[in-house]
Amino acid sequence: MPVRGSIQIDDMYCKGCELCVAACPQHGIALAMDVLTPRGYHPARLVTENCTGCQVCGIVCPEAAITVFRQAKVLARGG
Ligand code: SF4
Ligand code: SF4
Repeated sequence: MPVRGSIQIDDMYCKGCELCVAACPQHGIALAMDVLTPRGYHPARLVTENCTGCQVCGIVCPEAAITVFRQAKVLARGG
């Protein structure tokens, strides 16, 4: 069943290294150039609705700044 995912990025830990940007198979992450974290970095943000919750970004992040959420997608309901 197709799944839909989402991520949350903790700006306290993100250091803008872009490893997650390069790793996301959906090309769904970008740095927010208009935001600065408390540590002075541009943080990563989810910029697509195509996130599948594959967890690749969470695995590659060296700061463990990404939490991945995943849920089954309801495509249609029978009647
Ligand atoms: S969970 Fe997968 S699809 Fe979603 S943002 Fe992370 S790498 Fe991309
Ligand atoms: S891999 Fe982690 S630290 Fe690097 S930009 Fe992505 S969320 Fe930030």
